[in-house]
Amino acid sequence: MTATATAIDTQYLGQSTQICCWRVDEHTIVDPGPTVSLQAIRDELAGAPLRRILVTHIHLDHSGGVGALLREHPDAEVWVSKRGARHLIDPARLIASAEQVYGGAAELARLFGEIVPVPEERVRIVAADGEEERDEFVIAETPGHAKHHVSFLHTGTGDAYVGDTASVRLPGHQFVLPMTTPPDTDQAAWNRSLDVIAAWKPRRLMLTHFGAYDDVALHLARAREGLRAWAALAAKLDADLWGDALAAAVAAATGQERVTGYATTMPAATLWHGLQIERERLAAQAS
Ligand SMILES: [Zn+2]
Repeated sequence: MTATATAIDTQYLGQSTQICCWRVDEHTIVDPGPTVSLQAIRDELAGAPLRRILVTHIHLDHSGGVGALLREHPDAEVWVSKRGARHLIDPARLIASAEQVYGGAAELARLFGEIVPVPEERVRIVAADGEEERDEFVIAETPGHAKHHVSFLHTGTGDAYVGDTASVRLPGHQFVLPMTTPPDTDQAAWNRSLDVIAAWKPRRLMLTHFGAYDDVALHLARAREGLRAWAALAAKLDADLWGDALAAAVAAATGQERVTGYATTMPAATLWHGLQIERERLAAQAS
């Protein structure tokens, strides 16, 4: 198999360009997404056994399906950060907090499907003591969107698998939207993580939402500016008005038809709430 990565559009909830699972090589994928949309991965693999499932972070839209997928791939190991590993092994706390965010167990099941615990012996902790090289990857912690987020640079191709650290961008557009999800959003950490990714000088940024982008400097600049600007606006506007402003900006930048694409990935009210939690945390630290 060639070294060129394959984007697997998981057709999440029947929609294209929502959640992208990356097939790095024949036996390696990054972020399979939730259990409800694993079929596209099965189709792409066509029976090839997985050996490595790389997890950028343990939010359910990225790794909710890891445990279910492992049952079908008995030789696969899971690469995940130390902070993230315990939630894959015992997802009870993760499920409880996700039920709060998404409004109950039934809705959680509809959105993500079964969340199967990952056997501890299948887990390989990565980047626990800072940036490390493992096989053909350089791996570093990249917090900001989530405390336990790691990113993977594939040294052979220069492709950087950055999960949600480099934010969200839909194919064919230059609008970059930071996923300021509760409860971990941390702008200072996030900007340092973007420094880490920039220092790798990647050839391409491989996003989960959605696709590969080779205009790396432009993209990273827009990720930083988006974070600064939307956080500043969230300090002035309530959730409804902020959501209206976001929808208008998305429509202006991408065409009206893409508004639903960005909204399905993460509702505006949730992004606003993540920024509010950060403001409250910073205010508490300052007082
Ligand atoms: Zn995500």
